[in-house]
Amino acid sequence: MSLPNAAHTTVTELAAGLATKRFSALELTDGLLAKIAAAQPVLNAFVSVDPDGARAAAKAADAARAKGEGGSLTGIPIAHKDLFMTEGLRTTCSSKMLEHFVAPYDAHVVTALKQAGTVLLGKTAMDEFAMGSSTETSFFGVVRNPWQPDFVPGGSSGGAAVAVAAGLVPAATGSDTGGSIRQPSSFCGVTGIKPTYGICSRHGMIAFASSLDQAGPIARSAEDCALLLTAMAGHDARDATSLPHPKEDYRRELVKPAAAKPLAGVRVGLPEIFFGDGVDALVVAAVEAALAELRALGAVTVPVALPNIGYSVPIYYVLAPAEASSNLSRLDGVRYGHRAARYTDLLDMYKKSRAEGFGDEVKRRVLVGTYVLSHGYYDAYYLKAQKVRRLIADDYQAAFALCDVILGPTVPTTAPRLGTQSQDPIKMYLNDIFTIGANMAGLPAMSVPCGFAPNGLPIGLQLQGPYFSEARLLNIAHRFQQVTDWHRRAPKEVGHA
Ligand code: GLN
Repeated sequence: MSLPNAAHTTVTELAAGLATKRFSALELTDGLLAKIAAAQPVLNAFVSVDPDGARAAAKAADAARAKGEGGSLTGIPIAHKDLFMTEGLRTTCSSKMLEHFVAPYDAHVVTALKQAGTVLLGKTAMDEFAMGSSTETSFFGVVRNPWQPDFVPGGSSGGAAVAVAAGLVPAATGSDTGGSIRQPSSFCGVTGIKPTYGICSRHGMIAFASSLDQAGPIARSAEDCALLLTAMAGHDARDATSLPHPKEDYRRELVKPAAAKPLAGVRVGLPEIFFGDGVDALVVAAVEAALAELRALGAVTVPVALPNIGYSVPIYYVLAPAEASSNLSRLDGVRYGHRAARYTDLLDMYKKSRAEGFGDEVKRRVLVGTYVLSHGYYDAYYLKAQKVRRLIADDYQAAFALCDVILGPTVPTTAPRLGTQSQDPIKMYLNDIFTIGANMAGLPAMSVPCGFAPNGLPIGLQLQGPYFSEARLLNIAHRFQQVTDWHRRAPKEVGHA
């Protein structure tokens, strides 16, 4: 057996290794389980690891391959963000509220990836109930950035991005309500895509803000994201917002032979605000260098305007908490989740269970959400925010009349130092200025590594496209990755066994 150095290896390369029997799925799984165990004390990327389940799935994958069955994902180890329900496995949303909750069924995307033959190694840490941008609000402790362990990995899918960046899994699932796939991907130097709202079923994905939440993959290349998304996407009648969109092969553009100018004719829209005040100069420089690469591949750039994008953060912090306050009301200590040990009556039991079970950020959102939905404030806040949400979606439609894809930084900065933003929620909220618009409009968007700051932390660029343009976004990212190696870089290994 020659196990590859998993930190640099893509799903596509691992699949080739499995197909040619250079190593088995079981060997690969055991190798990665050992790496996870070694890295966990430093990085804390996982909430739960499932060695027995993983080894059984790996053996089944090896048996399928031996019979000549299975597809490109058969035997590929992955991890799920801990808000996807996994039958028989703990599903916590990184909250004390669900610390001991064992899911009774699999989420749709979990089933889809299982059927594709993937091997689930474990569940990754996140900000509690996906509320946050740093994975510092997990009940199970902070998660660290593998490039610089004193810095945050981003969030809320921080554990997923760390696991991929550190070589603990080649790919992982995430969810994105206001940037939670793209922002940690940017901070950790990996590739992640949030598809069009409704492409991946939300069945079994514990809801934060239902009209914004969308599942998607995080991996080491656009090609791998395309492979994973092809398996995850598809209509599901159990989610009323799942789109009856035909199944697509998101690799179809990528597998075409490389032409001299593979992006000839692609119009890249540049909103001025994505390059304006408040964006770190070194982030702008890295994104501009990437633009030069895209131009060399044949793309042309056009200015576009997103005049209302500045309102996206304030309206997000009305709409997302409003939906969250409703969604989280089910966690009352009666049916599932934490129940206070001592209480006087039913109301007291609700109050104490929720007071003990939820962390500060979750409580803050429930309070804000309850307030903006309350009688007398609904029109002033919630309704107004819904109207501005429509304006933002209209801005994108106008921009996409002029361009095929919008490009800018994923985040205005590189990852902040641990502890520096959790004390200042408003500052943390403002960091989502470039990602939230795509959630408001339901558009696909992805983050692609495009450089490093002098302190060694990664920088990501963001591509946003019209509805159902995932194949195009992935192809642009793939062509960029064919001529650059930012996505191939890996941090120093931590916690040698
Ligand atoms: N950072 C944003 C928030 O705290 C987005 C989180 C997400 O996409 N789940 O709400």
